[in-house]
Amino acid sequence: MINTSQIGKVYLVGAGPGNPELLTLKAVRLLQEAEVVIYDRLIGKEILEFADSNAELIFVGKASGHHTLPQPKINTLLIQKAKENKRVVRLKGGDPFIFGRGGEEALACQEEGIPFEVVPGVTAATAVGAYTGIPLTHRGTSHLVTFITGHSAKGKLPNLQWDLLAKSTHTLVFYMGLSTLPLIAKELMFHGSPPDTPTAVVQEGSLRGQKTVVGTLANITEQVGQQQLHPPVLIIVGEVVKFREWMHWFEEQSSYEMPESPTLIA
Ligand code: SAH
Repeated sequence: MINTSQIGKVYLVGAGPGNPELLTLKAVRLLQEAEVVIYDRLIGKEILEFADSNAELIFVGKASGHHTLPQPKINTLLIQKAKENKRVVRLKGGDPFIFGRGGEEALACQEEGIPFEVVPGVTAATAVGAYTGIPLTHRGTSHLVTFITGHSAKGKLPNLQWDLLAKSTHTLVFYMGLSTLPLIAKELMFHGSPPDTPTAVVQEGSLRGQKTVVGTLANITEQVGQQQLHPPVLIIVGEVVKFREWMHWFEEQSSYEMPESPTLIA
């Protein structure tokens, strides 16, 4: 029997898209109270500054394309720190349960009898929609939105039911799809999406480095190539992209006071 009074607790906390103002109050409070903060890529320095100066900060992620600490080792680290009776914040970009492997970490805690909580965060899709002026759903235009990973574990396009995705008239949001963008566009058009389907590719949504490229499925790869975007990048496909023309507001805000994001690590 584990004596739970002698073990700490793990908080799987969503940090949002990197803009400190989009942290939840609960995320900030837990960061302030944490003894150990285990964080990965997409977490900026401004967010880590909420942690106590005595807290142990452990980085477990690297820039995309490089190795990260393997997931089993991260799980072991969380458990080890909790067993040392520490309050552990596992800080993850966006929402822990959306392409964040938060589920695996929750299961690992559960298996070891470690108490845990999950704190939702603003996921990249909703942040990018808001900050680019693209409503992910809009009455009469799109009544369904699908979050998709553009990257399988092997770094290739995942096996998806492209025929279903292509034939629908809803909004598709691809995470981690910058390197597979040409394949995504090709598959969708091959399976029936009109080549003129509006498509947006957004770098560093909600951050000062935000850059939005708008095109169509047919020309988006070329457009993005000219702009030399870098990760993190989100792709939005669907008629709702057109609304940006009337609803964009963020990129024009020259007076918007927010920290640079040089510490964004992916
Ligand atoms: N759990 C995270 C997603 C992690 S996967 C979430 O809920 O948002 C990492 C991917 O998220 C990136 O490759 C990119 O596609 C997307 N992403 C995260 N932050 C982003 C940002 N600020 N702007 C654009 N895309 C972002």
